[in-house]
Amino acid sequence: MTDEILRRAVQTHILSKEEIIRLLSMQNAQTLFVAADEVRRKFVGDGVYLRALIEFSNYCKNNCLYCGIRAGNSHVKRYRLTPQQIITTAKQAVSYGYKTIVLQSGEDLWFDTDKLCEIIREIKKLDVALTLSIGEKTREEYAAYRQAGADRYLLRIETTDKELYEKLDPQMRWENRVRCLHDLKALGYEVGSGSLVGLPGQTVESLADDLLFFQKLPVDMAGIGPFIPHQQTPLATEKADGHFDLALKMMAVMRLLLPDINIPATTAMETLHPQGRLLALQAGANVVMPNTTDTEFRPFYELYPGKICLGDSAEKCRGCVENKIKSIGRFVAHKKGFHGDYLKKV
Ligand code: SAH
Repeated sequence: MTDEILRRAVQTHILSKEEIIRLLSMQNAQTLFVAADEVRRKFVGDGVYLRALIEFSNYCKNNCLYCGIRAGNSHVKRYRLTPQQIITTAKQAVSYGYKTIVLQSGEDLWFDTDKLCEIIREIKKLDVALTLSIGEKTREEYAAYRQAGADRYLLRIETTDKELYEKLDPQMRWENRVRCLHDLKALGYEVGSGSLVGLPGQTVESLADDLLFFQKLPVDMAGIGPFIPHQQTPLATEKADGHFDLALKMMAVMRLLLPDINIPATTAMETLHPQGRLLALQAGANVVMPNTTDTEFRPFYELYPGKICLGDSAEKCRGCVENKIKSIGRFVAHKKGFHGDYLKKV
């Protein structure tokens, strides 16, 4: 039965909600992973795109129950890079061969539109693609960043279950997050979204809805992260059992539904499984986002515990990731890796 669903999905990239649920419920999902790997190879090839992640501030005005840097966590040592430090870090990343810079932070109001636009303009002089991942903003702010040169924006929907979202992200409105994604699309960004997998109260039905939501938007990129409980949050006593397997299945089904998008092998996957990112790259993923934040600050950007490579320099991470990619017969792509590059080529 799943074999038949998979055969059709590989051809048509259409799945009903019931079929998605069926695939997400597979006990042994090897055939799903093989199908996703086949679709990945056919549509986006064997190249793996690297994105240099700079975590530039852990100040956050929000209070998401799952997140280690939530405003309510008074144990966090807060830090904020200066604009100059951010630009210097980006230059270093470019010197290691990165073609895309990702700037991520909590929702830190110190970085107003003027400061951000100045940083964006400086980084764009380095001839790289620039991605922002800085949360919910107004349409005008998104327009200003775009005007300054930002190319892509990452904003996970986290969950399409509105009730669950508003329970886990107090003071935030699910409709506003959706509004942000639509604004970003309309402004011409490449839009990345994604989900957390394994949240308390999350159902497999709602995970299927997440995937259909990404297909409908449609997203240009989507990251699936297993939820990992953090001790200094209200969800401290939750477990992470089974989250890796379920996240991998989510990611693989996403590749079937959206054959040509960019899908990262997420860092959180590697936190739960020593080979997490390599398994992800062999089950639909084609992107890795190594951390290039200075090691001095890395421990403090603790969204979840057990983050990998905390003590490793950006240079070491770059080499290590490339070796891992080569070990599975793949290679580092030397292009910026915009969604659709492949399609333009053919
Ligand atoms: N402020 C930005 C960036 C958020 S941090 C924004 O709102 O988009 C990036 C991602 O980390 C989040 O979107 C969330 O999916 C993930 N994350 C947060 N807490 C986590 C946890 N406990 N386990 C796994 N991933 C987590």
